[in-house]
Amino acid sequence: ILCTLQVVVALLGAEFSELRARLRSRKNALEEALTRIQDLANRDSLTGLYHRRYSQELLDHHISLQGRSGRAFSLALIDLDHFKAVNDTHGHATGDQVLQIFASEARRVTRESDILARWGGEEFIIVMPDTLAEGARLLVDRLRSSLNELRIETLEPPLQIKFSAGITEHRPGESSDVALTRADRALYAAKVAGRHRTVVDLG
Ligand code: GH3
Ligand code: MG
Ligand code: MG
Repeated sequence: ILCTLQVVVALLGAEFSELRARLRSRKNALEEALTRIQDLANRDSLTGLYHRRYSQELLDHHISLQGRSGRAFSLALIDLDHFKAVNDTHGHATGDQVLQIFASEARRVTRESDILARWGGEEFIIVMPDTLAEGARLLVDRLRSSLNELRIETLEPPLQIKFSAGITEHRPGESSDVALTRADRALYAAKVAGRHRTVVDLG
């Protein structure tokens, strides 16, 4: 009886450890799936960039952190110029393609620590931690020249992606809304001044 019991216990032990290993791997797979679902839920399906709500959360989180450090950062609101005309001339599918091209160029010129998001239809935001307005302008200029070189020749007439940008620095202690309103004002000024340009508003 003892011998039989020993064999049964050994077999059960092996069974249990196999079961435990299977459960662990299932738990890992579930955790990975959950992370992927969360990431997808935070992103815009057309461009793959963060969507507005999530980027606003990240921005507010950044503000609450830098409240203690007091380090300045900049933000840029970017709006594609005459985008309605792109849709009207080339069709909605090409309009979508232009938004994707813009997103991928913006991803290329920004840093891992920047927050890049689709703010609305053809409007985007870039939050640049530890960057003053001067540095933000350089980044936006880099994006503008990379888009200038990138003409979509397959289209007739050829299309050039142009945008207006409004830049501001966040001041320690102010809310995201106040900084965003200033960036929006700068963007509006860039539009009024003739589009395809950047305006910096330091308030
Ligand atoms: P402005 O230079 O003043 O910004 O002019 P605009 O034509 O870019 O601005 P307006 O607000 O008049 O038009 C924005 C257009 O963007 C209208 C809308 O149909 C288009 N749009 C918004 N989201 C999408 C999208 O996901 N795909 C496509 N293809 N078009 C979009
Ligand atoms: Mg717009
Ligand atoms: Mg526009």
